[in-house]
Amino acid sequence: MFPYIARHPTISALVLLLGLVVGCAQNPVTGQRELSLISTQQELNIGAQQYQPSQQVQGGQFSVDPELTAYVQGVGNRLAAVSDRQLPYEFVVLNNSVPNAWALPGGKIAVNRGLLVELNNEAELAAVLGHEIVHAAARHGAQAMERGMLLQGAMVVGAIAVQDSPYADYAVGGAMLGAQLLTQRYGRDAERESDAYGIRYMARAGYDPAAAITLQETFVRLSEGRDSHWLDGLFASHPPSEERVRNNRALVADLRAEGITGGELGTERYQAATAFLRETKPAYDAFDEAEQLIAQDKLEEASRKLDTAISLVPNEARFLGLQADILVYERRYEAAVQQYDRAIAEDSHYFDYYLGRGVAYSRLGQRQRATEDLQASVNLLPTAMAMNELGTLSLQANDRASAKQYFQLAAQGGGQVSQQAGAAFARLDVADNPASYIAVQPYVDAQGRLLARVQNSAPITLRNVQVQFRAVVAGQVVTRTALVSTLAQGQGGDVDSGINFPAGVTPTADQVAVGIAGLSVD
Ligand SMILES: [Zn+2]
Repeated sequence: MFPYIARHPTISALVLLLGLVVGCAQNPVTGQRELSLISTQQELNIGAQQYQPSQQVQGGQFSVDPELTAYVQGVGNRLAAVSDRQLPYEFVVLNNSVPNAWALPGGKIAVNRGLLVELNNEAELAAVLGHEIVHAAARHGAQAMERGMLLQGAMVVGAIAVQDSPYADYAVGGAMLGAQLLTQRYGRDAERESDAYGIRYMARAGYDPAAAITLQETFVRLSEGRDSHWLDGLFASHPPSEERVRNNRALVADLRAEGITGGELGTERYQAATAFLRETKPAYDAFDEAEQLIAQDKLEEASRKLDTAISLVPNEARFLGLQADILVYERRYEAAVQQYDRAIAEDSHYFDYYLGRGVAYSRLGQRQRATEDLQASVNLLPTAMAMNELGTLSLQANDRASAKQYFQLAAQGGGQVSQQAGAAFARLDVADNPASYIAVQPYVDAQGRLLARVQNSAPITLRNVQVQFRAVVAGQVVTRTALVSTLAQGQGGDVDSGINFPAGVTPTADQVAVGIAGLSVD
């Protein structure tokens, strides 16, 4: 029923797994011996499991220009072949305007089209990819996870950091780990190491290492007076600075002193490979503007921007998908389904089209189709929204057990949908497990009355709470039930049982008992 669980182990399961192995190993890049809690096999597993959801959460692959992806893969493979560690390296181009690149453990690397459009030549691309290859080869991701493990003990890579990240409403379940890996910082030493060895890999692969300097200069120039777009992406983890330009200049000088000279820039090849990307930039700018307009609730204006974008690149599924999203916001569900169909016909590998179409089908009362689409979206990326909708559909089909599981998963995120799902889960679960939501404690007051202190810890209002008392008074067993008609979220109070102990009698703990016999929710 939850097929992604097998493929993406829950974080706690992962922690348990990782916590068991402690070793020491030689760093494949630097040659230094260091503590190693995460084995090579675990690195490979994490990378393999998180690669797809991490791509999805970042916009999916840039599929309208497969030749560009093949080109980037060619450059990546040329560098990977001369790296200090053989890993199952993979390279993809993501459909994302933020200038960014990242590497997951195990050599799973991605570069955004928003970065590619700013580079001047193939050697600069090699500088970017070489840097990311070192992050993977030198175990920087694994090290950052290990630091987390050492600092936080067993609770390691927990659900934590994702709460405040832009992915709060997205990844739930195992994909939360990927979201966290993408937002983590490696630290300055790791960044310096990646620059230093990345430049060596460039030279080994036959590129002019001086491109690493021009790349940093470009970054410094672009970061001055640029919008937050730039600060969100690469520059958040790789702050551009004159210091970095100087460091790279010194590294290149070292190589020259070692007699390593020459190398190619590959400017013409790069310009040819990225021609389509530069030609179509106005379309993607219009798409980005449409996203901003949607955030400001200017749906019609956004749709017009998308019309422009679609006229420029008619087969870009993201443009069609965003227009379909607008139709869902406007509650035009049948039109939305048609537009999602067009998006999926162009690109069948992006979660949002299935998620949106599933929600639209659900609103149209087509439960079977809705369920199929939502599950397809979850297979690509488990999201709080899909889980929440699947929970609602399960409930409509009177499958309470499945509904509870879906709502519980949806509640793991940090956004508004997750809060709603948490309440939906509690609404179902309090009836089954009232003791988990109501603390109830008996006590006897100065007048000898038996009372109970009750406290509602559920995220919802509870009604008709039946508090059951049992006491042994003068050798006789007495039972009473008291009713609390309304107990709001977080509310507590005292409930009188109506049972009184004779003056001077203090009952022992085993002579009084209290429990919840029943309750209802709205
Ligand atoms: Zn880096």
